[in-house]
Amino acid sequence: MRFRREPNPNRNHPAYCPYCASESLFPDEEGDFAWRCSACLRVFSVMFHGQDDAPVAASATPSAAQALQDSLRRHGHSARPQS
Ligand SMILES: [Zn+2]
Repeated sequence: MRFRREPNPNRNHPAYCPYCASESLFPDEEGDFAWRCSACLRVFSVMFHGQDDAPVAASATPSAAQALQDSLRRHGHSARPQS
C-alpha cells in the first residue's frame, strides 16, 4: 500500500482560500490539484494552464546615447555632435 503520491510539478499553492480568505489550506485527496480550507471546509482546485504571449511584443531598447539624444530632441534641445 502506498500512502505518498508522486509530486505533481503543475500543482500550485494558493496563499488564501478564494471563498473565505483563510490561510489554513491543506492538500486534499479529491484530486491532484485540490485544496481543502479548514476554516470554511470547502474543497477547491487550483491549476496552472500555461502563460500566453504578450499581446504586443516589446520594442528594442535604445542605447544610452540614443536615449539621451531622443530625450534632448523631445525637450526642444538640438543634439550636439560628440567631439
Ligand atoms: Zn475557506
